[in-house]
Amino acid sequence: MRPNAVLEVDLAALARNFHALSVIAGAPVHPVVKADAYGLGAGPVAQRLLSEGARAFFIARAAEGERLRAAVGPAPDIYVLDGCVPGTEAALKTAALWPVLNQPAQLAAWRAAGGGKCGIQIDTGMNRLGFRPEDAPEAFPGLALVMSHLACADAPDEPMNRRQRDAFAAVAARYPGTLRSFANSGGVFLGPDFAFDAVRPGISLYGGGPEGRPDPRLAAVGAFRAPVLQVREVPAGESVGYSRGFIAERPMRVATVGAGYADGVLRSYGPRGQVALNGELRPLLGRVSMDVCAVEVTGLDVAVGDMAELFGPVRRIDDQAAAAGTIAYELQTSVTARVPRVYL
Ligand SMILES: *Cc1c(COP(=O)(O)O)cnc(C)c1O
Repeated sequence: MRPNAVLEVDLAALARNFHALSVIAGAPVHPVVKADAYGLGAGPVAQRLLSEGARAFFIARAAEGERLRAAVGPAPDIYVLDGCVPGTEAALKTAALWPVLNQPAQLAAWRAAGGGKCGIQIDTGMNRLGFRPEDAPEAFPGLALVMSHLACADAPDEPMNRRQRDAFAAVAARYPGTLRSFANSGGVFLGPDFAFDAVRPGISLYGGGPEGRPDPRLAAVGAFRAPVLQVREVPAGESVGYSRGFIAERPMRVATVGAGYADGVLRSYGPRGQVALNGELRPLLGRVSMDVCAVEVTGLDVAVGDMAELFGPVRRIDDQAAAAGTIAYELQTSVTARVPRVYL
């Protein structure tokens, strides 16, 4: 038993997912470890992936890159997806971080600051970040990567996927010899012609399915667990939690579990949320509080100190996210700093 809520990170499962994704794509995996490896801890995650053979990483912010560089040393490439925010040129170079430039003015500023190794992002239709194809620069010294990003990779039948892929292939052909990267997690599963030279999965490394539901080829990596603090018998007619959010229509046994929204159990987990306890899925009851939530355990052999699983190998994160009306990415990145990360 652990005394408090914990986010366990199964690094062996991470390694299995890393190799599985590379086999499925038929291309090297350059892991996306932004947002602290989607909440799991970028340092230990990247160190394990490095020892499994990863040669390049993607993060979003320069500050994330500085911490990552300290964790993984000088060998791997680290690309910054935000690009080169004005004024960060020197910090990027000091930490040996390569910006993914996304507009003509940024390329000009990068050059004015002395240039150096970098990537460019091409916007093939998402209208988020990147050069429009007609604005894409001529090949230039230091250019090491050309990439684009899918808008609908979690929907394999969406025709936009193919249109984006073809647009990317056309632009990338202008940069012979430059590493081409296109596919995120969903893109890895769209077929070999989406893989190009290296794929950039994030969520599927951590066990999230490419289509927002669990995929048997991927193992759960994060397990968000919290202890049962008290078990009580609630008579028919009484309520549970704030605002009488749940009313017992029959006598029931209720476990109070020590994790709430201040730990990352979003209030939206209820009322369709389920928690795994001693191998069984049981419903959350009523409102999630700051520090605790309530779970029905009628007929279940459960004791104080038993660990409930908010998401993990039994209650898969995609299923919990769907119940909460959101996506695995948000659930995992919502686990707060109060919850220690423990590496298995
Ligand atoms: C976050 C991100 C990824 C990883 O996406 P997943 O869906 O988690 O695999 C890849 N590329 C870019 C540009 C991103 O922003």
